[in-house]
Amino acid sequence: MAILLGSIADDYTGASDLANTLTKNGLRTVQTVGIPDPSLALPDVDAVVVSLKIRSIPASDAVTAATSAERWLRQRGAGHVLYKICSTFDSTDAGNIGSVTEALSDAAGGGIVLVTPAFPETGRTVYLGHLFVGGQPLNESPLKDHPLNPMHDANLVRVLTRQSRNAVGLLDLIAIAAGPDAVKARLDSLRTAGVTAVIADAIFERDLETLGEVALETPVSTGASGLGLGLARALVRSGRISSSGATTADAIRPVGGLSAIVAGSCSKATLHQLDIAERSMPVLRLDPERLLAGPDEIAAAISWAGDRISAGPVVVAASAAPETVSRLQSLHGREASGHAIETATSIITAELVERGVRRLVIAGGETSGAAVDRLAIPAFLIGPEIAPGVPVLRTIGNAQGDMLLALKSGNFGGEDFFTAALAMMH
Ligand code: ADP
Repeated sequence: MAILLGSIADDYTGASDLANTLTKNGLRTVQTVGIPDPSLALPDVDAVVVSLKIRSIPASDAVTAATSAERWLRQRGAGHVLYKICSTFDSTDAGNIGSVTEALSDAAGGGIVLVTPAFPETGRTVYLGHLFVGGQPLNESPLKDHPLNPMHDANLVRVLTRQSRNAVGLLDLIAIAAGPDAVKARLDSLRTAGVTAVIADAIFERDLETLGEVALETPVSTGASGLGLGLARALVRSGRISSSGATTADAIRPVGGLSAIVAGSCSKATLHQLDIAERSMPVLRLDPERLLAGPDEIAAAISWAGDRISAGPVVVAASAAPETVSRLQSLHGREASGHAIETATSIITAELVERGVRRLVIAGGETSGAAVDRLAIPAFLIGPEIAPGVPVLRTIGNAQGDMLLALKSGNFGGEDFFTAALAMMH
């Protein structure tokens, strides 16, 4: 069966968030980890989300990976490809949103690309090209302190222009509120003026539905799960989906085994969730300096977990408050310390799976990506949601047998997220 909608996600957590949104909006969806091996048996689906890990790598490497994923999706029939980015537009002036968007558009023959990170359900809205996170402009939100991609400008037309070769325009709410025909007319005039990408405003889901309908007539769009919602609803409305309402119950059939939580996110939400988890389960706070110094801290963590894990879930966390993160970064560099800690948390995760963990919660987008890579899990079937945007995932084709996972990016989930996640995994 041909794929109707393809997507290339720039990190694994965002991919599961999008796959979850597509599922909730009526598309049968599988999320793959990287471009799948041809031998992997995938079920019949409406949408495939190819998860890459290209948000924070050099732009030219991101372009190479994204264009090969695009070829794979087009070969399987995908008429439209969504480049899935973070709803907080995580990127730097060196890329990668602009570079990848232009490369995907060139590969599909050019035209104008709709770009919007709006996702009203999680408080991300765009008005006159400015991104708001909850009630705050992006540059005043906690994202200004992100360890890898600190965001200091809320004007996305400006942000994307700095990352693009070609002109970037604005598709404002007035045109969007007037409906698909008004949007198409506006895009035509922008295209004539030489614009090849537009930041699209969106405040309500109906704005994204309008954008989804228009985007389906183009080969490529760039956005967060909100645009995925718009595309999925437009596909369902078009009558092209054979059976809507994928069943998610099948995905959470019990897998047994032990359970664990590994955290590398330093977001406010994750730090609070860890404090709450500490009341009901053993939590090991890793020493980031010692993690960077050598393998001893990893070995100590594995031994600590090994002593406790048969009695119930354990938590291992590298996460730290902004002052501690800044101190480490000023000593070792932002990327070097981030990657070294991701490597450490992924080794710990793999060792826990080696010791029988089959139910696993990982906090942090980059942290999840590194861990899922090391575990070499080929694909996931999407299960029910734990919190908005975070589904339970069931592995497909996993060498160690079926596992249940939750991959949570920084700011997602309520304060009891960790216990809520484990309560859905048996
Ligand atoms: P989020 O989803 O909250 O953005 P990520 O995992 O994507 O979380 O990013 C967090 C980054 O911070 C990762 O690169 C992680 O390795 C790094 N990190 C984790 N703990 C620390 C720490 N104590 N000091 C510095 N960096 C850290």
